Amino acid sequence: MAIWNLGSINADMVYALPHLPVAGETLAASGLDQFLGGKGANMSVAAARAGSHVCHIGAVGADGRWAVDRLLEYGVDTRHIAQIDTPTGHAIIAVDQDGENQIILFPGANRAISPDQIGQALSAASAGDILVMQNETNLQVDAARMGRDLGLRVAYAAAPFDAVAVAAVLPHLDLLFLNAVEARQLQDATGNPPEALGVEDVIVTLGAEGARHFHGTTGAVQDIPALPVTPVDTTGAGDTFTGYVLSGLDRGMPMAQAMAQASRAAALMVTRHGTADVIPDLKEVQDSRL
Ligand code: ATP
Repeated sequence: MAIWNLGSINADMVYALPHLPVAGETLAASGLDQFLGGKGANMSVAAARAGSHVCHIGAVGADGRWAVDRLLEYGVDTRHIAQIDTPTGHAIIAVDQDGENQIILFPGANRAISPDQIGQALSAASAGDILVMQNETNLQVDAARMGRDLGLRVAYAAAPFDAVAVAAVLPHLDLLFLNAVEARQLQDATGNPPEALGVEDVIVTLGAEGARHFHGTTGAVQDIPALPVTPVDTTGAGDTFTGYVLSGLDRGMPMAQAMAQASRAAALMVTRHGTADVIPDLKEVQDSRL
């Protein structure tokens, strides 16, 4: 089986700050690190490190060759990443002393993916594979439709949140990932709580309080606790969690087991500074003493 990820690829610039800036404030950073990032790239790396064959569908500019090489090095199949005439996406990430973050995104090439590119990539997919998307590229609805037609299990992480974008893709989904804020925003927009969205599996992540799974057909609700750690940087926790859940499902695990493993991986992740480069692999997750 394989995971097909229509996903963003970013250069992440991480600035260490005494506190998150407020409107009008000028604040000196005490440090800067550059990493491979983008919710899509993070999820591809997480799912590949968890042991799955992950085919990334995306785009970079001429300045993004290093990012594709990095994904390849991390075990992601990069044959469906196009190099186009638009700058590579990037993110400016502010992190305060408690590990809380604030992010500015420049989408660039991530929003210039062509329908042909997606069609060509998915023509190599098999029924039962997983297709995942986030809201950092274009063409999610087209991809979801194609995925459904091909018999793929279609998953979507509703981030960065946009009520119109989620509403458009919702009817085509089998699995939806939301964090607590997104779940509230979606409920405000649709009037429906997670269990009444018409999606078979909905997972709401709750930070240090763990995650909750809502099963559409049975109405069952299951809580998976977070593991107790001291967070230093929560960036990428959600993407790591999502990538590990998808990989668990791709490798035939029941949802609760996939989520439990994802919870261990995400807990390890919040103890590290950085994004895609520091997502733990399966052996680290299994060997960790959390
Ligand atoms: P981010 O945008 O910061 O990457 P998110 O808001 O998408 O994250 P969260 O709900 O914050 O997602 O976290 C995802 C998962 O990561 C949680 O369900 C939990 O398993 C794990 N996690 C997050 N924060 C912590 C923490 N402080 N301690 C332990 N586990 C955590």
